[in-house]
Order: sequence, then C-alpha cells, then structure tokens
Amino acid sequence: MATQSVMDTSFFGHPKGLRTLFFTEMWERFSYYGNRAVLFLYMTAAVPAGGLGMETATAGAIYGIFTACVYLLSLPGGWLADRIIGQRKAVFYGGGIIALGNLLLAASTTLTFYAGLGLICVGTGLLKTNASTLVGSLYGQGDNRRDGGFSIYYMGINVGAFLSPLFVGYLAQRVGWRYGFVLVTIGMIAGLIQYKLTESALGENGLRPVTEPGASERKSLLAGAGVILGIPLLIGVLQTMGVTAFSAVDLADAFFVVLALCFAGVFAILWRGCENDRERKNIILIFCLLIASVVFWSSFEQAGSTLNLFADAKTNNVLFGYAYPSTWFQSLNSIFLICLAPLFSLLWIRLGKNDLSVAMKFSLALLFVGLGYLVLVAPAKDADQNIKVAPYWLIATYFFHTIGELCLSPVGLSAMTKLAPARLGGVIMGVFFLSIATGNYIGGRMAGFYASMKIEDLFFYIALFGIIAGLLFAAFSRPLARYTGENQ
Ligand code: GLN
Repeated sequence: MATQSVMDTSFFGHPKGLRTLFFTEMWERFSYYGNRAVLFLYMTAAVPAGGLGMETATAGAIYGIFTACVYLLSLPGGWLADRIIGQRKAVFYGGGIIALGNLLLAASTTLTFYAGLGLICVGTGLLKTNASTLVGSLYGQGDNRRDGGFSIYYMGINVGAFLSPLFVGYLAQRVGWRYGFVLVTIGMIAGLIQYKLTESALGENGLRPVTEPGASERKSLLAGAGVILGIPLLIGVLQTMGVTAFSAVDLADAFFVVLALCFAGVFAILWRGCENDRERKNIILIFCLLIASVVFWSSFEQAGSTLNLFADAKTNNVLFGYAYPSTWFQSLNSIFLICLAPLFSLLWIRLGKNDLSVAMKFSLALLFVGLGYLVLVAPAKDADQNIKVAPYWLIATYFFHTIGELCLSPVGLSAMTKLAPARLGGVIMGVFFLSIATGNYIGGRMAGFYASMKIEDLFFYIALFGIIAGLLFAAFSRPLARYTGENQ
C-alpha cells in the first residue's frame, strides 16, 4: 500500500502525503482549539454581552459532554472508515460536517448552538482518527521514518492549536463571539480545499475500506451508527418540542452511565480476547494506565473551562503594556509543546537503559498536572478577594501541564499498542481515546463547581487529586512492573 511513498522524501524527508495531512489536521485543530478557547466563556457570558448567560454548572455539563463526545465518536468514526467508506472520504466528510457545525454556532441561536456542537462531535469523530491512520499508511512496514512522521504531524496539530486562540480568541472577545465561529468555519473550509487540491499525494491509501463487512455485519454497524446518532437527535427533538425538560446537568449525569458502559464493554472485549496469563496481566497494566490517563486529562482539559474563566475574570491580562484577550493563554500549551517536544524525545533517548517505566512517566505526568494547579492556589486566594492576579501564575501552570502532557500523551499510545496483543490493536487505540473522553467529561463536571466554591479551594482539590494520584501511582509502579513483568 505504501510502496509508492518509500522513495518519496519531498516533505522534510517524508512522503508528500504528509504535507496534505499536516495541513488538514492543522486546520481541523485550528477549528477545535478555537472553539475550545471561546466556548466556555461564550456559554457563561451574560446575554446582553452576546453570550448565552448559562450557569457554570450548566456550562460545565455541556462542555463535559461536548469535549467527551469529540473524542468518543472517534471510535465509531474509525470503524465506519475501516469498514464502509475508507479513511479518505471520512476525513473529507468529517471536515465538511465540522465546518457546517461551526457555521451553526455562528448563527447564535440556542437551537443552532446545540445542533452545531453535535455536528462538530460527529465531524471530528470522522476526521481525527482517520487522518492519523492515513499518516501511518504513508510508511511501509519497517520504514524508520514513521515515528518522525508522527512527530511532524503532531507539530501540525500544535501549530493549529497555537494560532487559533490568538485569532479566534481576539475576534470572539474583541469583535463579537460569532465572528470567532465564522473564522473557525473559514479555517476548516481552507483545510478542506487544501485537502482536495493535494489529495492525490496520498496515492491509493485510504481510498477503500480495509475490510468490507459482510451483509449482516453491515446491518449491525449501520444499526449501531443509527443508535449513536439517533438517541441524541431524539433527545434534542423532544427537548425542543418541550415534551421532555431534562436539564444539561441531568443529561450529563446520564452520560456518565454511557461512559461507564463503554469502559465495561471494551474491557470485557479485551479480557475475553486474552489467550494467556501474560496477556491478562498486560490488560491489568493497561487498565491502571487508563485510570491515570483519565485523572490526568480531567485536570489538564480544564484549560478551556476553569483555567479559562480564571484567566478571563481574575487575571490582570496586560503584558509589556498590551492588554491582550484572556483566551490567548490557550496558546501557551502548544507553544511550550513545540519547544519542549524535541527536548523530551532527546531526554528519553539519552536515558537509554535507565529510561523510566511507562507507569513512572504517567505518575510524573500526574504530579506535574497537580503542580500546575498548586501554583495557582495562593493567587486564587487573592482572586477570591477580587484582586486580579499577575499572568505569570497561569503561564507557569501551562508550562507544568505541558511537561505532564509530554510524559503521558506520546508515551501512552505507544505503550498501549505495545502491551496489548496485536490482534486487539484496534480496540486498544479506542480505549485510549475513551480515557481522554472520560477525562474531558470529568473535567467539565469539575468546572461546574467553579462558581459555587472558593476558587482557592477548587484549585487546591484539583491539585491534590493529581498529586495524590501521582504519588499512589509512583508507589505502585514497582510492584505493578514486577507483577506484569514490564521490564523497564
Ligand atoms: N493536543 C493533542 C491533540 O489535540 C492531544 C490532545 C488530547 O489527547 N487530549 O490532538
């Protein structure tokens, strides 16, 4: 499949298809992170200020469900592409659906707001995993440029995530919320045009499904897709017609059950798929890593919620005499990541044989994410007295969070694929996405407490949550490694 790209070194030594995917994902992340930067502020801003005037508990519930679904729907998105439409179409349709979703957000009515969020979840579910799968397909077995290719691709993600809060945030906060959403729409359309114009660089990759399902599997896949899309649609229609009157918080509570069932389901599949004790032990290790991953993302992903609110209302947003929009803080994670990622890859290589175990890296990630909140506890005390705090605190927070991300995110996916039996590879990728989805959900719910608690206490508990989890994980990492026989 990848033969034609073997000799192709036209994009920084990589196949030119990587350029196509780099820019497609860059624009998609531009759109997602632009959204993430302004969504919570838009939901909680007062109606006269052009916002939706929601309580933070309501906004937290919606934000939690939305950000969780963005990642959760990559599971069916991946299946649909593998089995029915192929990755190429999935990426294109996904991008189109995202653009439409953002356009609906720009329409600024309650109905279009929910429909827009729903479309963005579906579109991202189709685009994100499949674009990464396409990156993988550019390299033949044993092509040692693969990891480098993924690193370049990850840079594309972060270039998009860096630029969008700057532009989208500025427009949304300074000109009008809807203009932010319009810019995000234009960005996604630019990404799609670029994709179509340069798609031929992908050759045959992803044109067809990997394995065509038989008639009965096709039926159950379509029925599954119908349920996944149909239930939220039905709830939406019933709510709009006033037949039901669930609050966002009620729906978010119910959504927790969905996530728990997904977890139980995939573990049942993994456990039953094991053929010997070795494999079962690895699944236990994976399970522990996933719990750490959930705790990590639940704190980290509050960048768009609690940390965003804190930046907006409690931070003195002036640097070098310029009063910048508070959403600009959202760019820090990406710029730190772009600068630090090469250093971290070097560090892991330098450590060589003394490289830390995956569990140890995960515990470091938890400690750093906790530390990021700990530095905010003292300034939050001032904030609780309505004193605006210096921006350096939040800069430090994002710095620590990025170190945490570097200890967990790249390491996590590769550990999953290494630990799981090869025949369960597809499920395991999905499980990692599931942990990110759950983390996002919990983070959104935690953010719901922002208005009803002292900020100082909230940040202290979140810090404690990460630090205790990190210490526990560090303490267990040795016995765990011994039990599972992980040799690092
Ligand atoms: N920043 C990365 C991305 O957007 C990873 C985010 C995550 O895994 N939560 O793809």
